[in-house]
Amino acid sequence: MRRTLIAGNWKMNGSFAANHTLLTEIIAGLPADNAVETLVCAPAPYLAQCAEILGKSTVAWGAQDVSAHAKGAFTGEVSASMLADSGCKYVIVGHSERRAYHAESSELVAQKALKALSENIIPVVCVGETLEQRESGETSAIVAAQLQAVMDVLTAEQMGSIVVAYEPVWAIGTGKTATPQMAQDVHAFLRSQLAIKSAEAANAVRILYGGSMKPENAKELLAMEDIDGGLIGGAALKAADFLAIISAC
Ligand code: PEP
Repeated sequence: MRRTLIAGNWKMNGSFAANHTLLTEIIAGLPADNAVETLVCAPAPYLAQCAEILGKSTVAWGAQDVSAHAKGAFTGEVSASMLADSGCKYVIVGHSERRAYHAESSELVAQKALKALSENIIPVVCVGETLEQRESGETSAIVAAQLQAVMDVLTAEQMGSIVVAYEPVWAIGTGKTATPQMAQDVHAFLRSQLAIKSAEAANAVRILYGGSMKPENAKELLAMEDIDGGLIGGAALKAADFLAIISAC
């Protein structure tokens, strides 16, 4: 059984005051018998604050990126060991915004996933197609290539411990959501790709859907067989919306 994971991606949003309110409201609003694994991915300067506020809660925290290098002269980068020091359990790698605005290749994303795993941090590997690619029938080829780059460098055992997030680029922050069936089709395809590497990994890996998931559409999306949770952007910034998505699981 794959445990449902609901992960918030705050992107470049937040302040000490706003985060304090958001995190305390999330902790207070979670049901006592919450079976859903809950995660917030905060900007690096706020990871210590997450540790302080979430430390005694069941909510995990993670980062939104990690360096592909271990240490040294890489000004501005944050290493996996630094994230581990900050108590991160997860890190997002290959978000479409990083691929688009920072020219991150799938090979670089794979190296980042490897570095995260070397510090026992679970990489949430994002894949997804643009609208143009979907319309020209390239969705499967694009997501397969993005995933393959990671499968090329990870062992079958390592593959079994990652999380994959399918995030159609055209649905991120746009209010457009893939229909549950559209998302399910890609999730099932991704799982079949994972199975080429390892049947165990294919069965174990949680594949999250991301792209304008909100309280109104979460239930239908999360009911699909191969959708094991959500990576939530905008709706993760409002405690009520984030909690409503968790309740929809
Ligand atoms: C994201 O940034 O990963 C995301 C899915 O954003 P949104 O929910 O705002 O579309």
